[in-house]
Amino acid sequence: MRPVIDFKQVALTYPGSQPVRALQPCDLLIHRGEYVTVVGPSGSGKSTFLNIAGLLQAPSRGDYYLDGINVASLREHQRARLRAEQIGFVFQAFHLLPHRSVTENVELSMMYQCVPRKARSKRARDELLRVGLGHRLDASPSTLSGGEQQRTAIARALAGHPSLLLCDEPTGNLDSVTADQILDVLDGLHASGMTVVVITHSDEVAQRSQRSIMIRDGVLSEEAVPR
Ligand code: ADP
Ligand code: MG
Repeated sequence: MRPVIDFKQVALTYPGSQPVRALQPCDLLIHRGEYVTVVGPSGSGKSTFLNIAGLLQAPSRGDYYLDGINVASLREHQRARLRAEQIGFVFQAFHLLPHRSVTENVELSMMYQCVPRKARSKRARDELLRVGLGHRLDASPSTLSGGEQQRTAIARALAGHPSLLLCDEPTGNLDSVTADQILDVLDGLHASGMTVVVITHSDEVAQRSQRSIMIRDGVLSEEAVPR
């Protein structure tokens, strides 16, 4: 089967008077339906990796094939469309709009995909039910707990029906019990066939995935994370 993520000697150096080699040339394959964590300490290159995988940043060398498409061959608007259609993002901070309801926050994520209004409402509701927020559909984000806010952000990421869910420290702002609940949600998504990539500094989060990849000083390696 075609991999979802295929890196061929992908690398990124941030330019400047003292260039930072944030990601060293690496090959990486992530297949459909995998649940992968990328684990490393602060400053090791995790967000850089996620930004490249998520088409938020172009690599300075190498080729990245997303679901078989060489992203370097695309124009910026094509890349933006591919990103909107294929990738759902979840970040440490929830980035919810404060003056919109939970449902509206999820609906708004589909504006750029030209999903008709009725379908947007249905999808928002379906995804909110899927993450266990059926009882807070009309709530304001400020009245939600941190875990509920992150569930809303996950529903928002799923609403576009992405083929890949990319999460940057998704439990970083949560207490350990709530973090476990969010990881349960990710487990459920993986069980339903979603390709999930989580970057984290936490070995506990890494233990929850099928496959862990270490990153240190910009070097990715498949060495097993101690379990
Ligand atoms: P992590 O997410 O693991 O904390 P990052 O990917 O954010 O690591 O950063 C990796 C390295 O690249 C760090 O040394 C960081 O200081 C550097 N870095 C990140 N973003 C930039 C940037 N825009 N310009 C220059 N250096 C950067
Ligand atoms: Mg980071």
